[in-house]
Amino acid sequence: MLSKPKRIYLSPPHMSGNEGLFIQEAFDTNWIAPLGPHVDAFEKELASHVGTKDAAAVSSGTAAIHLALRLLGVEAGDTVFCSSLTFVASANPIVYQGATPVFIDSEWDTWNMSPQALERALCEAKQKGQLPKAVIVVNLYGQSAKMDEILSICNAFLVPVIEDAAESLGSTYKGRASGSFGRYGIYSFNGNKIISTSGGGMIVSNDAESLNKARFLATQARDNAVHYQHSQVGYNYRMSNVLAGIGRAQLEVLEERVEARRAVYERYVQTLGDMPGIQFMPELPNSRSNRWLTAITIDATQLGITVEGLIDLLAEENIEARPVWKPLHLQPVFKGAAYYPHSEHENVSEQLFYTGLCLPSGSNLTEDEQTRVITCIQKATVQSKIISA
Ligand SMILES: *Cc1c(COP(=O)(O)O)cnc(C)c1O
Repeated sequence: MLSKPKRIYLSPPHMSGNEGLFIQEAFDTNWIAPLGPHVDAFEKELASHVGTKDAAAVSSGTAAIHLALRLLGVEAGDTVFCSSLTFVASANPIVYQGATPVFIDSEWDTWNMSPQALERALCEAKQKGQLPKAVIVVNLYGQSAKMDEILSICNAFLVPVIEDAAESLGSTYKGRASGSFGRYGIYSFNGNKIISTSGGGMIVSNDAESLNKARFLATQARDNAVHYQHSQVGYNYRMSNVLAGIGRAQLEVLEERVEARRAVYERYVQTLGDMPGIQFMPELPNSRSNRWLTAITIDATQLGITVEGLIDLLAEENIEARPVWKPLHLQPVFKGAAYYPHSEHENVSEQLFYTGLCLPSGSNLTEDEQTRVITCIQKATVQSKIISA
């Protein structure tokens, strides 16, 4: 029996080799608990890397979003706007707070939040006297949203922005780090992200005072007293010192990881870019995407194969590919939530969902492995053309 070729993952973890040294140091000093010197250092190093005043390390990107909402005073009865084309973790914390999400469509240039849909939604909300407490803007697959436009609209309505940069650490927009634009920015170090602590997250801000409050809330909101005293409900959201050690070693190689993922993207463009029916996710001028995932859209009639067909064929070769995120306004869990499309005639996030897929993009993807992916796509489309001829 033929053995299956080695599995190619969408975005596996990629350790640098130095993580063990940091972990060993945590063990040698017995700093195994949450908090400790690696956590402090990781926070400082990350804040300095992205150019914010401060950063607070937490247990996940989701926890970071939840804390940002708490810091902005989001509570039951409030609404929060959120990009629709994203992973469900962007919006779940809105519901944790008992607030109501309102979803905003994407635009074509970045696949991220449509400024015109956002403006329409804010105008309507203002008329109803129900402005959102926050807007969560997602930077999909490493590509920054149109932050200048979004910030100027939100500033006009005095609504603070939370930048969900879980996928865009290492990217820049107009020369500044993605994730550093909103009142709060959040990053994720989940196993599939561009750098990983196996699980973890960070909240960044120029409001250092409020990040102290985030640290307080993340450690069960324990008041400053010798006995255990609490006047607010808190969480157990802090990052462990062991995992922060992994994060420090990973941060050292972030720029290499961005280079590697961009090279993977370039090679896909060189080999598949001329095929009729394939289009690549664009890159906004003046921005630099970390190309966390190479995402394409396909025209099934031109290419001769559908998104599902292509994903199935790749799966037969033991290659993992995924559709683009299912927009949150289409998710059963958010049934009935308000949604603002890009325009009366354009529903960009749905269009991207029906035609988009993500290709294996790991920074440790070898050339041979990538050739397997490329060959499979080329063969699939040639075969389907022969069959239909
Ligand atoms: C991964 C991800 C998150 C959540 O991060 P976790 O660390 O897994 O909780 C949030 N938003 C987006 C867009 C993500 O991709």
